[in-house]
Amino acid sequence: MTSVPDAGREGVWDTGEGAPPLQREGYGDGAVEEVGKEEDRESLMMELTRLVQRVVKQSSWWERQGIDCAILASAFLSLPAAFLLLGSSRGLLFALGLLVMGTAHAIITFKGTHLASHGSLSESPAWAGFWAVFFIEVCGSFTARAAVHSHIKLHHAHTNVMGLGDSSTWRLPFLSRSVYLFIAPLGMPIITPLVALSQIKDHSLVQAVRTVMMVLLGLYSQYWLLMSVSGFQSPARALLCMLLCRALYSLPYIHVNIFQHIGLPMFSPTRRPKRIHQMTHGVLNLPRNPVLDWTFGHSLINCHVEHHLFPFLSDHMCLKVKPIVSKYLREKKLPYQEDTYLSRLRLFFHKYQELMVFAPSITELVGVQ
Ligand SMILES: [Zn+2]
Repeated sequence: MTSVPDAGREGVWDTGEGAPPLQREGYGDGAVEEVGKEEDRESLMMELTRLVQRVVKQSSWWERQGIDCAILASAFLSLPAAFLLLGSSRGLLFALGLLVMGTAHAIITFKGTHLASHGSLSESPAWAGFWAVFFIEVCGSFTARAAVHSHIKLHHAHTNVMGLGDSSTWRLPFLSRSVYLFIAPLGMPIITPLVALSQIKDHSLVQAVRTVMMVLLGLYSQYWLLMSVSGFQSPARALLCMLLCRALYSLPYIHVNIFQHIGLPMFSPTRRPKRIHQMTHGVLNLPRNPVLDWTFGHSLINCHVEHHLFPFLSDHMCLKVKPIVSKYLREKKLPYQEDTYLSRLRLFFHKYQELMVFAPSITELVGVQ
């Protein structure tokens, strides 16, 4: 049984094995073979943590945070051009405006909200809290408190544990596979603030009012800029444009969220494996893809395994430690799961009932508990 580390800032370098690395070093001298084997298994995460820690300590601020902050800043800097392009009467320029604004919105709300929920955008807790509210509530139209709770406290702390972090919130069994995979995601810009409203009943009055104000501020700002900068004449057209921009990447958003965990081993809450086994069996990487790397960030695409093992690392740092992590896991005969986007899409389309409708069976990792 492992402890359950918090995946936020306070979880930095928590190996989940319950003892500081120095106490464990020097084990395995053959004194008691069984104890040695157990400690060998327990030390895997600590050994890998030390390797990754060394790389992080040798990295500059630019690598640790700067590159990802620059990508987010570039998304904001592209917005004036997008609003001007959306004011064009020429179809091609208008379409380019939709593409630029939709891509900027995806970078800000997928990559930005994800890094902000982990507190990875600033080393100062106060600024990390500010960025979480800004990205999740103002830009993402959701509640920061609920997002951090479901992503950090449940999904990361209990990855693939039944009833806790089993991704079941993504299941909508009343929808057919074609509707779920290709049509329903387009409604995300409308569904997201409605779900946020349903969540704030558990918030304090101050938090609830703040969330509603921040979500309205984000939605109204975009609407106002479309009307006054882009020159939209009709409110309905401005709202339709907002919907199109915000829904541009909603299909891959749903796909990515289900592809990397569902269909992989699920664990019992009372018999969960060691953290390194939990993450290597229950998480999958997609290949690199220039569009998805930018909009979602490496930690959600090609470095998802690294992200679940070291959730406090920024996207760029996940990419930097990827060769070390993948080599280490392969050397230790641990899984390093990878599959292509199209292969996962085919799997979910053909096995939709099994994966998305019926509850998955629990996996017992015999021999590695
Ligand atoms: Zn995460």
